[in-house]
Amino acid sequence: MTQETRLGTVQAKVLKGQMMEGMTNTSKLQDKLLLCLECGADFTFTVGEQLYFLSKGLSIPKRCPQCRKRRRDTLVREWGEL
Ligand SMILES: [Zn+2]
Repeated sequence: MTQETRLGTVQAKVLKGQMMEGMTNTSKLQDKLLLCLECGADFTFTVGEQLYFLSKGLSIPKRCPQCRKRRRDTLVREWGEL
């Protein structure tokens, strides 16, 4: 019985390890080419950015970095320092 218990623990550990690996495994993620809603240019949504967006629970960006930056600058100009 003790051996079974030990085996169960090992299996649980392996399972946990696989889950952790699945969460940090980036091999399935690829850079995505997206179209900017604002200027129509295509831009790369990199794996790093995807992970960042995922971790923040954000949806994928609709605008290219330039348009995002421009929008942010505009907001800052209109609303002051954010
Ligand atoms: Zn754009």
